[in-house]
Amino acid sequence: MIRFETLLEKVRSYSPEADLELLRRAYVFSALEHKGQVRHSGEPYLVHPLEVADFLADMKLDVVAVAAGLLHDVVEDTLTTPERIAELFGPEIAHVVEGVTKIGAIQFSSSEERQAENFRKMLLAMVDDIRVILVKLADRLHNMRTLHHLPEERRIKIAQETLDIYAPIANRLGMSKVKNELEELSFKYLEPKAYESLRSKVEGKRKTAENVIGDLTNTIHGKLNEAQVPIIQLDGRIKRLYSIHLKLKRQKIDLERVYDFVAIRVITQSVKDCYAALGIIHQTWSPVPGRIKDFIAMPRPNGYQSLHTSVISDRGVPFEVQIRTEEMHRRAEEGIAAHWKYKEGRVGDQRDERYFQWMRQLLEVQQEVRDPQEFLQNLKIDLYPEEVYIFTPKGEVRSLPRGATAVDFAYMVHTDVGNQCVGARINGKMVPLRTRLQNGDIVEIMTQVGHKPSRDWLAFVVTSRARNKIKHVLQGEERTRSIELGRRLFDKEARRFNLNPKTVLESEGLAKFATEYGAQKPEELLAYIGYGKLSARTLLQKSVPPGELKEKAPDSAVFSAVKRVLRPGAEASDRIKVRGIDDVMVFRAKCCNPIRGEKIVGYITRGKGVSVHSAICTNVINLMFDPERRIEVEWDSAVDQASYTVRLTMQVEDRKGMLAEISAKVSDINTNITNMEARTGDDQQARIDMTVEIKDVKHLEKVIKSIKNVQGVLGVERAARA
Ligand code: MN
Repeated sequence: MIRFETLLEKVRSYSPEADLELLRRAYVFSALEHKGQVRHSGEPYLVHPLEVADFLADMKLDVVAVAAGLLHDVVEDTLTTPERIAELFGPEIAHVVEGVTKIGAIQFSSSEERQAENFRKMLLAMVDDIRVILVKLADRLHNMRTLHHLPEERRIKIAQETLDIYAPIANRLGMSKVKNELEELSFKYLEPKAYESLRSKVEGKRKTAENVIGDLTNTIHGKLNEAQVPIIQLDGRIKRLYSIHLKLKRQKIDLERVYDFVAIRVITQSVKDCYAALGIIHQTWSPVPGRIKDFIAMPRPNGYQSLHTSVISDRGVPFEVQIRTEEMHRRAEEGIAAHWKYKEGRVGDQRDERYFQWMRQLLEVQQEVRDPQEFLQNLKIDLYPEEVYIFTPKGEVRSLPRGATAVDFAYMVHTDVGNQCVGARINGKMVPLRTRLQNGDIVEIMTQVGHKPSRDWLAFVVTSRARNKIKHVLQGEERTRSIELGRRLFDKEARRFNLNPKTVLESEGLAKFATEYGAQKPEELLAYIGYGKLSARTLLQKSVPPGELKEKAPDSAVFSAVKRVLRPGAEASDRIKVRGIDDVMVFRAKCCNPIRGEKIVGYITRGKGVSVHSAICTNVINLMFDPERRIEVEWDSAVDQASYTVRLTMQVEDRKGMLAEISAKVSDINTNITNMEARTGDDQQARIDMTVEIKDVKHLEKVIKSIKNVQGVLGVERAARA
């Protein structure tokens, strides 16, 4: 068991200014909190945090990380709260400890490869401080080293999780030393028989292998010296059991046929020396084609750099050589931790830009931070800024683009789930569909058969899948609506000319026009009419010989709204009726909000039906530019109980009882007030906004008149929007 004083000494050696007193307090606190607890090994629990902290010190991490290592289990395993940690040791250490605790709470349920990848990403995405991951990896490493004390079932679960989640994360962070040890240990516990058999076989070859390694390194040593290529380190090793195991499995061969289970590593001074060494090795032995890899020119995504080659030795046995500089070697072994260390005392090496490309943001932070000690302290990582990871109710992880909503998720599950989605529950709580998902959310979608997506969804969905599916349904509906509207318009126009619409639709003339127009079916032409691209009149003119086209009445269906005043009692059947907003194909325009009795004009929108404007609406002027889409509309003559919401704005003298008086007057004429608000200005005046329910234009006039009669009312206006 390592002693705490040794740990302090270690930290002091690489960070003379470190707050060792803080570490001492953390140690004492951890010792008190874990007092009486024992590990499965029978050792006092404290051994574990101490080992974890020691490993973090080996990586030369800062005091926050080392202290968090000492405290990493107190929140989970004792009664201590994160708040207490923050009180005693500051928010930063508390934050790291809390992060480690949070990660520990995630249940990695599936060993399916794709799921594992999602779990890894989720885990990384949940972490905003890289030290959380480093502490967690140190924790996992020590647990793996002491795994034999645990019962078999737990051993296997932990080893599998390590292999699926933590080893790849270590790899992602370029920490190959940690990754390798985690993999070897996982292999040992997951496949004890295969591991043992391979170990003894490799052991049997050890003597030979060591001789081979001796010969090879001697030769390389001589050749490099001869060419004056500096050697900083030159050694050989038998490859790791797990990597041999994978190779045997991949190639389905026996160990006897795996020759290259030794690897030589050359560490030299500069990049130039690396290439020189490669050349010399290739002159000495024949390279195996296809095995030369230049990770210096093209680093691996985790920043790994090295030259790799396989050559055939004099004994006819292939072996692998890795060549790199000292810097590259340290990075290869320690990854992000080495990077941090490496930056000490150096600023702005251009080649750094190429390392950790996936951590570009980190480097940007780094350039601003002169003091390398601050590097990890200030580090906020966002490894997957583009993605968010959530759980399905079954505990599977799904990744979505950042900003995705419950609706995006619904469409990801299934098109039908998306189309029929009526509600969402996040972490058990009902939320609006537009709610943006957060990492770790458990998302559940409620559906209702026959429900249709809303156009409003387009304003907040972020996935193209959801967007396309919603549009598809909406377009289908628009088409149905357009055909229906087109048919109604066409029928009326045909009857106006004493023609049977069905006959015209089936006529040769129409078929010919359809072909010219590029329409497959007459139905498509109707859709064009309903869509405002083609007028019913034009279609008639094109389908029927000119002589046969005789208008029944002088009344034209195409309506010049501005020039003409709608005659009350005009032939109602010729026109589209307006019944408030009940009819899906006719709706009152929001810009002018016309009410019953007002002069109105209709406009065929693109796919949404007919919008009805007040004839004096300023937008109507613009509508006149496209006469094909104009259409005559009128208020339905049937008795209609519908009322319209109208907002009135009035300027009044600021005096007591004004509001009461106005509302009394309005109520007197049987008018419902749905909202009323008053604001006082500094000029002894007040503005009152009132929303009333109005039956028709006459009713509105009455209301306005009665308000004007109240003493002190300076003006009343109908607001443009309801
Ligand atoms: Mn632990």
